[in-house]
Amino acid sequence: MSVNGSAVVRYERRGPVAVVTMNRPDYRNAQNSAMTYALDDAFARAVDDAEVKVIVLAGAGKHFSAGHDIGTPGRDVDQSFDRRAVLWWDHVGREGGDQRFARESEVYLGMCRRWREIPKPMIAGVQGACIAGGLMLAWVCDLIVASDDAFFADPVVRMGIPGVEYFAHPWVLGPRAAKEVLFTGERFTVQQAKEWGMINRIVPRDELEQATFELAERISAMPQFGLALAKKAVNQAEDLMGLRSGMDSAFGLHHLAHAHNAETSADSLGGQSARSMRDANKEAR
Ligand code: ZN
Repeated sequence: MSVNGSAVVRYERRGPVAVVTMNRPDYRNAQNSAMTYALDDAFARAVDDAEVKVIVLAGAGKHFSAGHDIGTPGRDVDQSFDRRAVLWWDHVGREGGDQRFARESEVYLGMCRRWREIPKPMIAGVQGACIAGGLMLAWVCDLIVASDDAFFADPVVRMGIPGVEYFAHPWVLGPRAAKEVLFTGERFTVQQAKEWGMINRIVPRDELEQATFELAERISAMPQFGLALAKKAVNQAEDLMGLRSGMDSAFGLHHLAHAHNAETSADSLGGQSARSMRDANKEAR
């Protein structure tokens, strides 16, 4: 077992299970690029370790993830990283749509697709907030175990943007629930998420870690290559149901919205900040 305590992402081997933990609890695990690449490093390590059969993705603290970092002191949108999700030029030094498309193709859509295709089963253990970009992290996992205090939302229509970059909404929620979630931007509960088929099981908060780990352990008794093929078979079926091409077309609309915002308001987020989004979402409830 190895533990790496202070980093933005912790990696721990527990027998056949790798536990990857987002570790910015003071910022509700808001995802900056430093965390994105640390997650990618951790997943790569788990894939390369032949002893690891299943990967668990968890969030330290009270919340799984508040989404993309749009306002913590560790926000790093202007920094270059060693790109690996797509072969496109670096966003740094570019402007406008060129800059945004390069960056989001790499760190959001590209990374999420890369992680969805990890050949080992991934289980998200979700507690507290799982908002916007946080949904993307849970959705790329194969199974989701959520605690009874978990809640979810994709409020980015408030920014004039039709949903987060990894546009899996119609496939993981069904079209009607997807529209309700996007149109209202409101929180939905763990029970609603279960009803809509988005999550596998609900457990009490203090049992989340153990329940997620036990499920991972049960799965780890299966043959590794069989698991990889079963995962690929289901992912291919989702792609045949239009997930991949649908997401590509939504990504175009997403960037139309960013560009429209940049043309007509203060910035590509429609002048919204983490704080204004939080306040607006509170008022809406
Ligand atoms: Zn975006």
